[in-house]
Amino acid sequence: MFPRSAKIFSFLVLLFCSLLSSSALAQERASIGEYRSRNFLLRTDLDKEESAELLNRLETMLDLISRYWGKKNAGLIEIYVFENTANWSSDTIPPQAWDSVTSGGGLTMTQKRTIGRAWQAKAIVYAIADRGTPQHEAVHAYCAQAFGSTGPVWYSEGMAEVGKYWQDPKDKSVTCDPYVIEYLKSVERKPLKEIVDLNQFTGDSWQNYSWRWTLCHLLGFNENYSQRFKPLGLALMTEVPNVTFWTVYGSMAKEIEFEHKLFVENLCVGYRVDLCSWDWKTKFTPARGSRTVSSKIEASEGWQASRLEVEDGQTYSVSTTGEWTIEADGEQLTAAGDDEGYGRLIGVLFNDYELSEPFDLGSEETFTARGDGQLYVRCQDDWGQLADNEGSISLRLQLMRSE
Ligand SMILES: [Zn+2]
Repeated sequence: MFPRSAKIFSFLVLLFCSLLSSSALAQERASIGEYRSRNFLLRTDLDKEESAELLNRLETMLDLISRYWGKKNAGLIEIYVFENTANWSSDTIPPQAWDSVTSGGGLTMTQKRTIGRAWQAKAIVYAIADRGTPQHEAVHAYCAQAFGSTGPVWYSEGMAEVGKYWQDPKDKSVTCDPYVIEYLKSVERKPLKEIVDLNQFTGDSWQNYSWRWTLCHLLGFNENYSQRFKPLGLALMTEVPNVTFWTVYGSMAKEIEFEHKLFVENLCVGYRVDLCSWDWKTKFTPARGSRTVSSKIEASEGWQASRLEVEDGQTYSVSTTGEWTIEADGEQLTAAGDDEGYGRLIGVLFNDYELSEPFDLGSEETFTARGDGQLYVRCQDDWGQLADNEGSISLRLQLMRSE
């Protein structure tokens, strides 16, 4: 379901009445056309060209999501798309669906028949023509038909939003609407516990939908969590008993909370949670005597482990070799970066799931730690533009002898 207003809708309505016959609708108004594609039967007041374009978008998305979940679409999805509700007659549309579309949203109704342990589900989608609502609802329809349910609200609505924004199988970058990003960065972050709370209802608000999207996008694409995410989703949609977010991710909750905070803070179009996956594995070590701590830092990734555990007040020597670029065919830069500081090696201290303010490293010969912690470093660049960076720099850190 896709909300526009704060109106409350019921979730996943199970219709046991007979479905509207297509011929009745087709005859009703001249302006309502019927169009077919491989997986969709579209009835709409959009014109022929717009309908073809929409079906194309829906098929592309369906192809992506069915490959993601590893199951073919389980039957033709009937979809009603409303450009102008004045072209339609309300008595041919189920009342809840009519309420949804007249308030600018959408609704997916699923009829599920169970015989013994076998079941069959048939979904019908009602959606307004804009803001990705048909795609959002089509994700629900696919999930309901393929798996029998769409999972708890956080997963169901979060993944419908992920599907709505997904355009290319290889592209993991954030493509959501700028107003969503603006909202997410302007309010206090919702903690995991609230996002995955089971006492939520669908259609509550687009703001809640955007929080669910942040979590599903993060878990789906961040390399620390993505492997467990798909099996979790499949278990939730097929209603495997006793499987929840917490049974799968509970032991990593602190790490996810930290990365979720980082994601929301740095969120922008083009942001890549995969490239910014936090390195929880590399061992850090304090610099003792004349020992050198070395690491290789990639231009195209977010914060990376320097391996150095720093101590408050200690001064360390910094030496770097190598060059990197921060745009396609861009100028080769050293760790000092360009005149504006782009391409410069910068650092941050991680201590007990908190980060210090970032500080300059690449143009310095030494740095003095302002606190204890693990030193993470990266190539200074806009968060949404890491993917086109190339090259790496070797970093060597050493404790300065106090004379
Ligand atoms: Zn929805």
